[in-house]
Amino acid sequence: MIKIQHLTKNYGTNCAVDDISCEIGRGETVGFLGPNGAGKSTTMNILTGYLSASAGRVLIDGIDILSDPIGAKKLIGYLPEQPPVYFDMTVDEYLNFNYDLKGCTFDRKAHLNEICEVTRIGDVRRRLIKNLSKGYRQRVGVAQALIGNPPVIIFDEPTVGLDPKQIIEMRSLIRTLGKKHTVLISTHILQEVQAVCDRIVIINKGKIVADEKTENITRAVESNKRYSLKVCGNQREVLDALKSVPGICLAEAQTSKDGDAQTYIIECESGADVRKKLFFTLAQRNLAMIGLEAVGMNLEDVFISVVEQTEQAKAAEKTRYARNTTKKRELKTRETLTKELAEDLIKNAEEQRARSDDEDN
Ligand code: ADP
Ligand code: MG
Repeated sequence: MIKIQHLTKNYGTNCAVDDISCEIGRGETVGFLGPNGAGKSTTMNILTGYLSASAGRVLIDGIDILSDPIGAKKLIGYLPEQPPVYFDMTVDEYLNFNYDLKGCTFDRKAHLNEICEVTRIGDVRRRLIKNLSKGYRQRVGVAQALIGNPPVIIFDEPTVGLDPKQIIEMRSLIRTLGKKHTVLISTHILQEVQAVCDRIVIINKGKIVADEKTENITRAVESNKRYSLKVCGNQREVLDALKSVPGICLAEAQTSKDGDAQTYIIECESGADVRKKLFFTLAQRNLAMIGLEAVGMNLEDVFISVVEQTEQAKAAEKTRYARNTTKKRELKTRETLTKELAEDLIKNAEEQRARSDDEDN
C-alpha cells in the first residue's frame, strides 16, 4: 500500500533521511520508532506530499506522490506533528471546511457525525479551537485526517502532549482504525508502538536500522533483563558477590543511596533468571538486599539489543547463503552499518555518563 524506494532528504548539508526503502502492506499497522531528530517527521511529510524528496520515490497504492499528488493524497489521512487546526474556527466550521477541501462526496451530516463520535469530540463541536485543551485539539486533528475515509492513515507522534487517560484513548482509537485501514504512526516511545503496531521500523540518523515484527522486537527487549537493586554493605564486597552469580553479565554501582543501602544495576544473560541465586549469594555474605526491581530498557538499549540480535541472525543467514555472492555483499554493508550504529550509541552513552558524572562531582 505504501512503497518507499531509496528515499533521501537533505537540508543543506544535513542528510535528514538517508536512502531508506520500505514497504507497508494493505491493512498493516506499522510504527516508526526513533529518537528525536531521527527523520520520522521528514519521512512522513514526504510520504504525504507536504515535502519533496531530494531523491527516491514514494508510491501510495501504486500512485506516485510526486507525479500525481492529488490522486495519492486522496488516499491518505495525515495528522502532522503540529495538528493543522485553525484556532479561530469552531470545530464544526473546521471539519466542514476540510470536508469541502477534500471534495468529499459522502453524506456530509452523517459522515461528520460518525467521525465526531469515533474521535469523541461531539461535545465540543460548537467551541472555538483556540479554547480547546491540547487533547481535544489533537482529536480534532485526527477527525480532520479521517474525513473522506482514506484507506491510509499516517499519524506523526499522535500522543505527544496528551495526559495518560488521553494516551490510552488515542491508542485504542489507533487500534480501531488499524482494523480497517493501513496505519503508520511515529513515536519515540517503545511501549507506544509495542501497544498498537504489528510491525516496528526503527529509524536512527535517517537510516532504517531494524524492521521487525513487534513480537521480535519485544523478544529482543525482554531477553536482556536488567534489574535495579538496593544492597547494604561494602560496595566492593557487593560488586564481588554480584559478579559471582552465574547469569549476571554486568554489575555496576549507582550514585543513589537509600539509607545505608546503595543502588546497583545488573544485567543478565538472555533467558537467565538470577533472582533466587542473587538473594542467597548476598544473604550468605551477610549483605542485605532491601530492594529489587526490573528496569525497562530505554530506546538506546533497544537499538543495541536489536542490532546485536539482528547481527547474530544475519551471521547465521550469512553462513546459509555463503555461496550467494550478491546476498553476501548486501549483508556486508548492512553489517558495517549496524556495527557503526552500535559503536556510535555506546560512545554517546559513555559521553552522557561522563557528563552526568561531571555534574555529580
Ligand atoms: P524526527 O521527526 O524523527 O524527530 P525530523 O524529521 O524532524 O526528525 O528531523 C530530522 C533531521 O532533520 C533533524 O536533524 C532536524 O534538525 C533536521 N530538520 C528537520 N526539519 C528541518 C528543516 N526544515 N530545515 C533544516 N533541518 C531540518
Ligand atoms: Mg518529528
